[in-house]
Parts: sequence; C-alpha cells; structure tokens
Amino acid sequence: MKKKILVTGGCGYIGSHTVVSLIENNFEVTIIDDLSNSQEDVIDSIKEITGIKPNFLKCDLKNKDHIDNILKYHKGFEAIIHFAAHKAVGESVQNPLMYYQNNLTGLINLLVCAQKYNINNLIFSSSATVYGNPESLPISEKNKTQRPSSPYGNSKKVAEEIIEDLATASKDFSAISLRYFNPIGAHKSGLIGELPTGIPNNLMPYITQTAIGLREKLMVFGNDYPTKDGTPIRDYIHVEDLADAHVKALSRLLNKSQETNFEIMNLGTGNGFSVLEVIKTFEEVTQQKLNYEITQRRSGDVPKLYADAKLAEEKLNWKAERTLNEMIKSSWIWEQKVRKQL
Ligand code: UDP
Repeated sequence: MKKKILVTGGCGYIGSHTVVSLIENNFEVTIIDDLSNSQEDVIDSIKEITGIKPNFLKCDLKNKDHIDNILKYHKGFEAIIHFAAHKAVGESVQNPLMYYQNNLTGLINLLVCAQKYNINNLIFSSSATVYGNPESLPISEKNKTQRPSSPYGNSKKVAEEIIEDLATASKDFSAISLRYFNPIGAHKSGLIGELPTGIPNNLMPYITQTAIGLREKLMVFGNDYPTKDGTPIRDYIHVEDLADAHVKALSRLLNKSQETNFEIMNLGTGNGFSVLEVIKTFEEVTQQKLNYEITQRRSGDVPKLYADAKLAEEKLNWKAERTLNEMIKSSWIWEQKVRKQL
C-alpha cells in the first residue's frame, strides 16, 4: 500500500516539483491549494511527467472548517508537507496583516486539524531569511536567527516557533523545518517551473523575462557590497534537488529516525555566486546577451548568504547535485516554453 501524503500548496513552484518527486518515490499524493498564486493545470503537467495524477482539492487554509471537512472524508494521511503561503517580500511589507493572516492562520488551522485527525508528521517549508544578516558564514543551523526584515520572512520565523512549541507540548508530533536558500531552475521535462504573477521580485525569473523581451532590463541592486565583485552573493539551489530533499526528510520522519521531534535543516549547495556571476553564466549558457544596469541597493538585502549544507547531508543522506549551469539552462528552457503557451 502506498503511503498517503497531504501536500499544501502542491500546485506552486516548489510544491509541484516535490509532488513529482513524491510520486516517483511511490507515495500517494493529495494536493490542497487555493490557487491564489498557481494554476490547476499544473496537475496535468505532473501527470504527464509521472504518469499518475495526484488528487487535488481546492482549499484555502484560512478556512478551518474546510480543512476539517477534507480530513474527515479523506483519511489515512501519514504526513503533511506544508508549502502553502504567500511569498512576495515587497508585498508583505505593504500588507503585513494579509501575510500574517494567510501564513500563520493557515498554519495554525492546519495544525489544529492535523492534531484532531491524528496526523503527526509535518515537513515545513522555511527559508534562510530567518538568519537575517548572518554573524558568520557559511550559515549553519547553529547560527542564531534574527528578526527578518520583512513580514514574509518573519511569518516563516514565527511559524517555526509555533511548530517547535507544538513539538515540545506533544511528543507524538514530529516535524522537520527545511530552510531553503535560493531555489531556481525548473523540471528537466520543461513541463513545470516558476510562474511569478506580475513583475518578478527574484533574480532568476527577472533575468529570463528580460532575455525573452518581457522586461526591458534587469536592475542589479548595488555593486558596492563587500564581496568579490561588489554584488551580493547567494546560494542558488536547483528546485529538483530541493524536491528530492523533501522526500528524504519525509522518509526520516516516517522511519522515526529523528534525534528530536523538531529538527531544522538548511537546504543549499554550500556555494555562493554573485549577481554578476549569475548574469555571466546565463549569457554563456544561453548565448543570450542580457540587458542590465547597476542601480542602488535594494533595502533589506544582505551582502552574503550561503549555507553550511553538512547537516542535511549527514541526516538525510542528501546533497544538492545540480550545477548553476543546469539551474540556469532549465530556467531558460522553461521561460521559452511558457511564453510560447501564453
Ligand atoms: N537582485 C537584483 N535584481 C533583481 C532581483 C534580485 O539585483 O531584479 C539581486 C538581489 O539584490 C540579491 C540577489 O539578486 O542580491 C537574489 O535576490 P532574490 O530576490 O532572487 O533572492 P533573495 O536572496 O533576496 O531572497
């Protein structure tokens, strides 16, 4: 019998890649998603990739009764992987309450219902933003967290604290929080990838949209940071590597291999690349000239963020394998495919 897993936000960017990886590893997946920042036809693409259509139920996690009803009639989930959240940093600064309401009320409703129906395993989609401007590099899980500068980031930090408190109170409950560095790339099939609504905030979709002609030019936010070329350094990780890590973390939960019932792990490659290095690699890999201009710093950006990725390697037997070239190539293939369809 296949193990049943509930994936919230499974139609989204990281969620959809994880659903593919779960199906390929023989799990039975049910997605709940409110489609606020994703499309239902992702389900068909997942079927095209894996040959199996995941179950799908439209559900807004702010509606607790709806979650309750779903869990009442769909029994037997062994774990929840929780991706569903708003994620636009700038929007969260403009509208903090919307972010706290969605990301935290959604989490609390989900946990209350999971407790009621005895679903005791959770994987949480967290972010390296909880480290703020790190005191030391590479960033290990032992680094202190700091209050993130955006309500989005803070919603991730507070969510981790809520999950930790529940793990302290309930020994039956087990959770792993995965702190992502900078996920980019798309599935090798070219069938799923990142689809930002409106003007992208993140570097990679901004680059590919500029190269395809949707944006006039990329603004490089500052070249006066204390880094090798003055532009900020980040740890970019292929979304397929990230997806595989979720399956490994799930196995750790289901096999009861955890050392404590709340664990935190970084998901990164351990390598840092500057914005200019990413641009240069994009130009080399795709043979496209990118129109860009150096402008002033973006508020809230820190000079360097890259992971100490050893803990996940040791505990999950997982290591990010795909190179920056592969990440960029797959992002570009995806961008070209999407624009043809729209
Ligand atoms: N960045 C940039 N121009 C853009 C978007 C991002 O120069 O249009 C830079 C940003 O300053 C940061 C890096 O690219 O140094 C990665 O930013 P992103 O928003 O993708 O991720 P973050 O690390 O901020 O979560």
